[in-house]
Amino acid sequence: MPLDRTEAVLTDPTLKSLVDAVVRKTEDGYRMASARGSIDFRRDGDGFEVVSQTGRPPVNDTVADRPDAGSEQADPWATLGNHATPYAFEHTAQFLDSEQAPDLAVLHTPSHRFHGNAGEHGSLGITQSRAPFIAAGPGVIKRGVVEEHMRMVDVAPTLAALLGCPKIDGVDGVGTPRSGVRLAVQDGTERSEMLDPDQRPEHVIVFLMDGTNNNALHAAIADGEAPNIAALAERGTAYRDGLIASLPTATLANHTTSMTGVHPGRSGILHNTWFDRSCGKSVDLLELESMMRACDHLRPDIETVHEALHRARPEAKSVSAFEYADRGSDWSTWAEFRSKRSVSSPGDEERRRHRHPEFGREPKYRYMSVIDAQSVHHAQRFWDGSQGEPPEFTFVNFSLTDDIGHFRGPHSDMTRAAITDTDARIGQLLEVVEASGRLDRTTAVVYADHGMQQVAEGEPVDLGAILLQEGIPHRMIDAQFVYLDAV
Ligand SMILES: [Zn+2]
Repeated sequence: MPLDRTEAVLTDPTLKSLVDAVVRKTEDGYRMASARGSIDFRRDGDGFEVVSQTGRPPVNDTVADRPDAGSEQADPWATLGNHATPYAFEHTAQFLDSEQAPDLAVLHTPSHRFHGNAGEHGSLGITQSRAPFIAAGPGVIKRGVVEEHMRMVDVAPTLAALLGCPKIDGVDGVGTPRSGVRLAVQDGTERSEMLDPDQRPEHVIVFLMDGTNNNALHAAIADGEAPNIAALAERGTAYRDGLIASLPTATLANHTTSMTGVHPGRSGILHNTWFDRSCGKSVDLLELESMMRACDHLRPDIETVHEALHRARPEAKSVSAFEYADRGSDWSTWAEFRSKRSVSSPGDEERRRHRHPEFGREPKYRYMSVIDAQSVHHAQRFWDGSQGEPPEFTFVNFSLTDDIGHFRGPHSDMTRAAITDTDARIGQLLEVVEASGRLDRTTAVVYADHGMQQVAEGEPVDLGAILLQEGIPHRMIDAQFVYLDAV
């Protein structure tokens, strides 16, 4: 069997510093394997049952019930199994069930730079999957910082509840009927423990800080270097154990999950890049033209938060600044770009605002700072009184935190500066909201799409070349997805 042989080559002990685990389907279930052990599991009602296991399988926890805060830096190269792997069975299964899923996916160790970056994400381990989540304002109970976690699939239903979308009969991502959901297709659950049913905001503003490590953000809050987010955590609810992204813990996949409540394996947007078996072509949503049109791949029956809001309240206005999952928004940066309309740009002074004096000279830092300044500028135009009533729903995407996290690692001084600058941009928009007299009627939500893990020094190793040496023809996507049927 070519699949068995592929697994055997990639889980050979000689590659154990590179390959943390491989995941694949079996005849009646799923399998995770590493050089140290393996586990086979299958669906059993709403849950999963273990069919068999050998050695020390690369799973350690199917639930994220521990903060694991201090251990992250004490044991930065922890492999899966030593490292918590929250929701490992469910997140692996939903991914492999996709028709676009590879025959086998490699989860890389943090002991090498498979993309050449100092910080990385994409795998099941808690440092890569865990993002922050903080919300405050009307409709959010003041619980403070709680030792609890939530999941990326829970974000959209929770936002829809805050926006007053009624409970409806819907389905989950595989079509099983569900009643009392907020979105037409919904895998997640609204987080009622943080919602005050007696209050509802008039406006909801989301700030997504791409790729922000949960522990790094809370450290910045503790050090007084993210004062705007700290104030939100104090007057609302912050999930200290974080927001657990679905597999793959990557940008396009989890932005979409957060805006739809549907896992990546079911939404149509499986990852940043994949091989589309239906047309025999690779899809690369990191390429700018495709990125702008990411939602072309989103399943039509799924609702975004924008669409659910408009179903419930057709007159409501929503705005999406620099966000990929923008379908159904009334105004979106990407929609303007798609239509080749000229987009309002911030002036020089506004571009330079909130740019760290030293790190801002680094070209990568400067470039993404300008993009984020544009993002907040786009949202701000709808709040400064120049466009009539402000939107009911505003989504602002920030990318500096992810870019610098990859460049220097999640706990670097430069990433701390990116968090501080992003916090200041959040404060910039909230000041405009305050000036509009609507701050006490507005709920702000801050989260990220996935975590970020420090990666050891070392050159990338081409696993595809190793498979070819072993006589296994395949197509390798993004150095991790192996398609045996798409050569
Ligand atoms: Zn991301």
